[in-house]
Amino acid sequence: MPTETVAAFRNLAIVGTGPTGLYTLHHLLQRGQKLTVTLFEAAPLAGVGSPYSPETTQASMLANIASIEIPPLGETYLDWLKRQPDAMLRVYGVNATNLHERQFLPRLLLGGWFRDALERMIRDANAQGHRIALREAARVLDVEPAGAEYRVTFTTAVGTESLLFSHVVLATGHDWPDDPDHDDLLFVSPWSGLIEAKVPALPVGILGTSLSGIDAAMAVACQHGHFDEGETTVYHPNPGSEGLKITLMSRNGLIPEADFWCPLPYRPLAHVTEAALAQAQAGGAAGLLDRLWHLFKLELSEADPAYARSIGLADLTPEAFATAYFAPRLAADPFVWAAENLAEVQRNTTQRRTVEWRYAILRLHEPMETLVASFNDHDRSRFEALQRVFIDNYAAVPPQSIRRLLALHRANILTVLSLGEDYSLTHAEGETVVQTETGAQQTFAVFVDARGQRALGLSDLPFPKLRAALGKNDGPVPLNTSFALQKPSLAGIYLPAAPYLLSRLPFVQGIVSSCDLGHEVARAIIPDAPAMLA
Ligand SMILES: Cc1cc2nc3c(=O)[nH]c(=O)nc-3n(C[C@H](O)[C@H](O)[C@H](O)COP(=O)(O)OP(=O)(O)OC[C@H]3O[C@@H](n4cnc5c(N)ncnc54)[C@H](O)[C@@H]3O)c2cc1C
Repeated sequence: MPTETVAAFRNLAIVGTGPTGLYTLHHLLQRGQKLTVTLFEAAPLAGVGSPYSPETTQASMLANIASIEIPPLGETYLDWLKRQPDAMLRVYGVNATNLHERQFLPRLLLGGWFRDALERMIRDANAQGHRIALREAARVLDVEPAGAEYRVTFTTAVGTESLLFSHVVLATGHDWPDDPDHDDLLFVSPWSGLIEAKVPALPVGILGTSLSGIDAAMAVACQHGHFDEGETTVYHPNPGSEGLKITLMSRNGLIPEADFWCPLPYRPLAHVTEAALAQAQAGGAAGLLDRLWHLFKLELSEADPAYARSIGLADLTPEAFATAYFAPRLAADPFVWAAENLAEVQRNTTQRRTVEWRYAILRLHEPMETLVASFNDHDRSRFEALQRVFIDNYAAVPPQSIRRLLALHRANILTVLSLGEDYSLTHAEGETVVQTETGAQQTFAVFVDARGQRALGLSDLPFPKLRAALGKNDGPVPLNTSFALQKPSLAGIYLPAAPYLLSRLPFVQGIVSSCDLGHEVARAIIPDAPAMLA
């Protein structure tokens, strides 16, 4: 909430025009007050967001969210798709005649929707008397208090400039490690040059088997061949690319499952309700995870009694549940499992059949997340096992991605390596040597670290004066529940940026979270008028 140091006239800066910046603007414009807003975007093209931009994404890379789940920005993603010319959709391998709300489409198309939505929001808002300005290729370098306002300093084509604002929303999103010199074919993330790099047809190691790892594998595979997405997906390597071998690796060597059919919007939960969560929290931090675990077990056993019995849920701890959840997959060959899982998902989709235990876990992850910030250290560390289950469940990937992984495996290009807990990586003389826990060694000419977004803290904040104004240098950035900086003189600055929230909201990544963050920030900046509360 803004304090008395914040001017009543709202002249806002939104820094970052990815999904979070866009949904923040969208919700602000719904608050019933005329606004002055300047949007700053470091990239030359605003409104696209980092995973959906041509700089980081290729047409082969799919979104794992479909129109039915994406909060509309004036119009739904599907309605926008239906307005696009057939020829444009064909470029992305999309057939205009069978568009539907559950389709997983290339992320570049989603970026196109976001960009159009931004342009439309600005046009409509300005026509209604708001004053919305967009500064592209304008990286914000710093934010500092200046009397009752905040000074935002940013780059322009001719140098740096600064402007004063009553509120600043830092929707800066993903933060990948810099890698200016990637000549050595060692990539510190899939977004630090891999997309443009010429990757030789040699052994490629990819650390991380989830969405980002799959992206990296697709980026490399599409340089050396193409997928034929007929009845069965087939990968055709180019002549001369026979030496390409891709190894996806992670501690447990599991690849994600295929996204499963389920009723949307979610059916309500019976036991993990807001009231039950409030009661669990009211009991204090000691024993909080156990109280939540009790609710989780009630919910899961009622949703799918046969599954609960089969794993002996009644007697399991959260840690033992995670073990039971992953055990069948760990015991199987990952590609055999993937093929069977894909067939099951396809069958269930055709029959509109819901696997109730999967659906219950999916619906449980968001309510459970709301109490993570209230855990003591002991519970936080115990929760990690359960966290892995939730992430595995909600980060299921489009079935088409699994079909492509299977095609690469059949072409004798893709394997999966299980590293174990105690593994080592050595980068030397242009090669990376990986030694697994069991002592097996593999050498890679190309290596990509695709472990996804890490949690960031105060020392990572790229705004030196703001860091100094916060007055300490380590730990998480102090934020209130509306994501405002928790210091009176900085209370008009908001940080709805997932990397800084992950330590308290471990599941905050995704477009739906971007919308929720934007909604919360907009409500804090322009609180409900008494009439709206009534
Ligand atoms: C590879 C990948 C794939 C993903 N796929 C999906 C998916 O399919 N579905 C889904 O729901 N989620 C997906 N996600 C999750 C993703 O986090 C969100 O969908 C979304 O991009 C988050 O939006 P954001 O605006 O917070 O961050 P971003 O999309 O990262 O946008 C932040 C913006 O801020 C700008 N910016 C940063 N710093 C500054 C600065 N100092 N000055 C000015 N501008 C700045 C950046 O240039 C960028 O445009 C994916 C994530 C990754 C990494």
